[in-house]
Amino acid sequence: TVHIASRLATLPQPATIAMAARARELRAEGADVISLALGQPDFPSPPEAIEAAYHSAQAGDTGYPPIPGQKALIEAIIRKFRRDNAIEATSDRIMVANGGKQVIFNAFMATLEIGDEVIVPAPYWVSYPLIARMLGGVPVEISCAEEDRFRPRAEVIKAAITPKTRWIVLNFPNNPTGAILEKEDLEAIAGVLREAPHVLVMCDEIYEHLTFDGRRHLSLLSVAPDLADRILIVNGVAKAYAMTGWRVGFACGPKTLISAMVAVQGNVTSGVCTLAQAGSVAALDGDFSRIEVMRQTYETRRNRVVAVLRAIAGVTCEMPEGAFYAYPGIASLIGGVSGGGRVLTDDVAFAEALLDEAHVATVPGSAFGYSPYLRLSCAASDAQLDEACERISRFVEKIR
Ligand code: PLP
Repeated sequence: TVHIASRLATLPQPATIAMAARARELRAEGADVISLALGQPDFPSPPEAIEAAYHSAQAGDTGYPPIPGQKALIEAIIRKFRRDNAIEATSDRIMVANGGKQVIFNAFMATLEIGDEVIVPAPYWVSYPLIARMLGGVPVEISCAEEDRFRPRAEVIKAAITPKTRWIVLNFPNNPTGAILEKEDLEAIAGVLREAPHVLVMCDEIYEHLTFDGRRHLSLLSVAPDLADRILIVNGVAKAYAMTGWRVGFACGPKTLISAMVAVQGNVTSGVCTLAQAGSVAALDGDFSRIEVMRQTYETRRNRVVAVLRAIAGVTCEMPEGAFYAYPGIASLIGGVSGGGRVLTDDVAFAEALLDEAHVATVPGSAFGYSPYLRLSCAASDAQLDEACERISRFVEKIR
């Protein structure tokens, strides 16, 4: 048998993978499964990105790219930070990676010693603690309560900081809750960070353009420019431009960190696909109204979904302020028995029963470190969302 490294053996299997596998099985058996499990925009990539990728290939731009990213893309990213975030970046503070995910990997690989702590406010996107653990880090979870609209309190962050803290991760707009940090939240957090000069901050802003009710995303770096030598911004074209498969993410951070991350990437994947980089330049410089159309669509869907969920007895639902998920609470349904006779011991059992009995795939809150909740992705058509909510409603009615 093959020896698998212990750093992998101790990694938990994310519930997302189990749910997706079960949904596929049911579909193969002929069931009409609606999947609200994936964080994948249901829009086409911008045509100008596709054109640009095609033209770059035709023009012979098919050799190895520089590891930090192609000049044209780095320049487009600098323009993007100026335009969207009021941040002035120089090229030595920018790098391009294979998705936002590789930015996170590069950063943790470049900085974590075995046993270093990474503060992760829960609910969190699964990959932060998993990547940290894979690289010898120790995730330290802090809770963001529903009563606080799922925002971390500065004093809770402060209490979690130890001499071993290497990073804190701030992902706002948040996956899975859609929470956004306001200026006062950022100022309070910046105050805590000023007293903890050994802590780096990872700001994952990949959902920055998907904000609702007139809210705007604010970057910690623009609120606290004095922390520039400790803030790493993670971003990418996946969510705002519906370009998940292009695998283009980017980072803005302190020079020494960026060069260490470039060194990591140079030994793992090298530079990002040239065609995808050319397409990303066109997307970033392209027609901003495309983002606005998607943003409005997600906002309308959010309104429908949250209204239906709130009407279900036993379900609570905070209004997401951004991103494209709903995160309903199911605390008062836990311990019940489903129509199919299953005991709903926790949100995993609930999500499994919902999938098997009502054929709706969701992700249980435990995957995001915060239970008992479900994450529903609104990256689906109105018809699918309506039908899914109807099924959830009938499923809940049968719980005894
Ligand atoms: N950050 C967050 C919060 C995400 O939800 C995701 C994707 O689900 C990513 C980063 C990764 O994005 P990419 O596809 O660019 O790797």
